[in-house]
Amino acid sequence: MLEVVQIAVLTDNYVYLVHDAASGETVVIDPSTPEPVLAQAAARGWTIGQIWNTHWHPDHTGGNLAIKAVTGCTITGPAGEAARIPGIDRAVGDGDTVQLGDHIAQVIDVPGHTLGHNAYWLAADDLLFPGDTLFALGCGRLFEGTPAQMHASLGKLMALPDTAQVYCAHEYTEANARFAATGEPGNTALAARIADITATRARGLPTVPSTIGLERATNPFTRAASLAEFTARRAAKDSFRG
Ligand code: ZN
Ligand code: FE
Repeated sequence: MLEVVQIAVLTDNYVYLVHDAASGETVVIDPSTPEPVLAQAAARGWTIGQIWNTHWHPDHTGGNLAIKAVTGCTITGPAGEAARIPGIDRAVGDGDTVQLGDHIAQVIDVPGHTLGHNAYWLAADDLLFPGDTLFALGCGRLFEGTPAQMHASLGKLMALPDTAQVYCAHEYTEANARFAATGEPGNTALAARIADITATRARGLPTVPSTIGLERATNPFTRAASLAEFTARRAAKDSFRG
């Protein structure tokens, strides 16, 4: 069993510590900033041995060098963005695997938000770390890639099992829900989810992780019936003021 610790940092980022009790190994996924990550690991008596980055944006890599300086950890990041990943030791892309103890994560290439973006999928553990590709009721903005790339990337993630836990890198869910509500008024699963999200956030609790099944049933971007519809929804969301 892997233990996942969710650390809320900056305005709305989530950093994840994943610990394998059997081997004693710990990985950090997308450390925005070093201090809270090191503090959470220390509080549990864990030593960070690895960092896995999903993409180069500073809110996902800002803690790399300081955590490496303190722990001597190994940094793994996307091959397509290796030059922009601080302290990178190992560049990985589609089909590669990374390992935490005996737990294997498959690297899935998911361009769109950035061109070299990776997701990390631990099939045996049913855990997905999609970075800024898939959010609860949303998807990443197209800073570098095309709508066709993001549409295909989301399609790869939607091929994963419904039960997969989706550990998104941001708490964007309330804003995403306001947009989602405008698109599919007849979707009862979406209406129920929005009510749940409102209640959860009112209590100050995270809406992440999600699941692939929940995103399949309610996310306006995974539910787009065609590339044209996806493209229109992504553009509408970019200019949406909810
Ligand atoms: Zn990003
Ligand atoms: Fe981000």
